[in-house]
Amino acid sequence: MSVLDKFTLKDRVVVVTGASSGLGVAFAKASAEAGADVVLAARRTDKLENTAELVRLAGREALTVATDVSEPEQAQHMIDAAMEKFGKVDVLINNAGIGTAFPATKETPEQFRQVIDVNLNGSYWAAQAAGKVMQPGSAIVNISSVLGLTTAGLPQAAYAASKAGVIGLTRDLAQQWGMRKGIRVNAIAPGFFATEMTDQYHEGYLESMKPRLLLGRLGDPEELAATVVWLSSDAAAYVTGQTIPVDGGITVT
Ligand code: NAD
Repeated sequence: MSVLDKFTLKDRVVVVTGASSGLGVAFAKASAEAGADVVLAARRTDKLENTAELVRLAGREALTVATDVSEPEQAQHMIDAAMEKFGKVDVLINNAGIGTAFPATKETPEQFRQVIDVNLNGSYWAAQAAGKVMQPGSAIVNISSVLGLTTAGLPQAAYAASKAGVIGLTRDLAQQWGMRKGIRVNAIAPGFFATEMTDQYHEGYLESMKPRLLLGRLGDPEELAATVVWLSSDAAAYVTGQTIPVDGGITVT
């Protein structure tokens, strides 16, 4: 067996939330290329079909499930649907998320709660449902953000709190499920990757971040997907409870 064989996801079942656009599409496609069948969840099923096509083009099976992860029953339904179709869940990629930027004195309780509900609570509901059925050797990858570790100029209390919360969630689930269930739980902290989320930033913002990027450029979603595949696979068999920045160096400047 060569070291490269450890990176395979051959015949695994990977659930990707927020798979209708942006990074979730890259994670789903990369998982399929690595050999997995993929369950695609998001609120918009029409857009999920485009991602499903990419999975099928890679020669693997896709299942789309309309899911609002902020609703615990819907997160449970997503995992039930995966079990019904494939009989197992090996990997959960908790990617669904929303980003907002409101000055703290203006942000309403509803605005704050919505971000926490999707990014933090939604990750927990999906992990809880998956953790009940996952077998030893399974893995959860939570998508946090550099905003969980540092600041980046915008007023993002809700987003930063939700993503720091995801890091705490990662650590604690790794503790609860490591020895007891053989499930590894890790997070990645992406820097800046051009998606629908970053389209919302005001003009010039991403350009203004460049001096903090040691590699001098935004990331390519495929560069993030490679780390997610690694953490999902046996190549990361001794990695758990960690948050890995994939950020072009922004967290060290
Ligand atoms: P995006 O807006 O393109 O994708 C977000 C996805 O989440 C979409 O598919 C959306 O439909 C889905 N989603 C939103 N609310 C949902 C809900 N309640 N239930 C189910 N699905 C829901 O943005 P993206 O940049 O691809 O973001 C993906 C993840 O990466 C997010 O968690 C985001 O916080 C994180 N992230 C992105 C960047 C970046 O630079 N793009 C950086 C750090 C972290």
